[in-house]
Amino acid sequence: MKAIMKREPKPGFELVDVAQPKPGPKEILVKVKATSICGTDLHITEWDEWSQNRIKPPLLYGHEFAGEVIELGPGAEGVQVGDFVSAETHIACGQCFQCKTGNSHICENVKILGVDVNGCFAEYAAIPAANAWKNSKKINPKHASAQEPLGNAVHTISYCNVRDANVAIFGMGPIGLCAVQVCKAYGASKVIAVDPSEYRGKMAERNGADLVLNPKADDVVKEVLGATDGHGTDVYIEMSGSPQAITQGFKSLRPGGEVGFLGIPKKPFEFDWAENVVFKGCTVHGVNGRRMWDTWYRTRALLESGKVDLGKIVTHEMRLEDFGRGIELMRKGECGKVVLTP
Ligand SMILES: [Zn+2]
Ligand SMILES: [Zn+2]
Repeated sequence: MKAIMKREPKPGFELVDVAQPKPGPKEILVKVKATSICGTDLHITEWDEWSQNRIKPPLLYGHEFAGEVIELGPGAEGVQVGDFVSAETHIACGQCFQCKTGNSHICENVKILGVDVNGCFAEYAAIPAANAWKNSKKINPKHASAQEPLGNAVHTISYCNVRDANVAIFGMGPIGLCAVQVCKAYGASKVIAVDPSEYRGKMAERNGADLVLNPKADDVVKEVLGATDGHGTDVYIEMSGSPQAITQGFKSLRPGGEVGFLGIPKKPFEFDWAENVVFKGCTVHGVNGRRMWDTWYRTRALLESGKVDLGKIVTHEMRLEDFGRGIELMRKGECGKVVLTP
């Protein structure tokens, strides 16, 4: 089968022809109908510091997909041949303290699909049956593939009270764009989107943002305060990982506000905790992955009711062979979600 592989510990990728995987014990074999490129895949392709420390080539990468179950491995339960599935990409151990106390999304021994084990940039993927999520067959596979980032947005927002609130979202990558839609769906009164890319600013508008700010042109903190009667936002959703954006996000948050923090800064940076967190009396929620399976049920409800439309996030559809072109678009920030069909 065709697949995208990181064969050597160096920048780049290879389109390879490898044997179709066999589903092992408690695994299922999925025929991939659509798979999408995530920021993580850009890191793996570019071979940044994080990848060098984490990835052990050779690896078939990719973790977002939707496809049909075509074979069950020995002892695989809860899924049938013919089911239309996507996957929770965090493979939890089921045995550690977090797993045993209902917090398997922060499992101590987590393995990630397409990061620690072979993933789905391929015609077929073998995944643990326990990680499969049955999709409604009504959902377009190209949209179903992008549920994982939507789940990140839903999970982040679930810690904050956005109803009738003023919310600023920093970072308009696909997860930030999903967050705009989710905040509107949950009844936020004003959603302010911040991103330095003009392309992504336009996408934010299309996804329902009430105000779009560009830190290259606007005085972000001043504009946010102006748009919130001088008080600042009730909620700050961090999806950028940029130290400059993070400082602006906290400065434009009102005292006592809430922060849902998902963005990952590239490295440690200087930050004024006293001014931004302590004296402000705000609450910061660090967010990792998606809750299993609470987040997935909420995500399904948003999709089935039509309150969230992933069609507005998917901007490019191409063949798996065009992976390099998709990565290039991601590098330039000139895309929402890029979906590939094997
Ligand atoms: Zn992803
Ligand atoms: Zn665990």
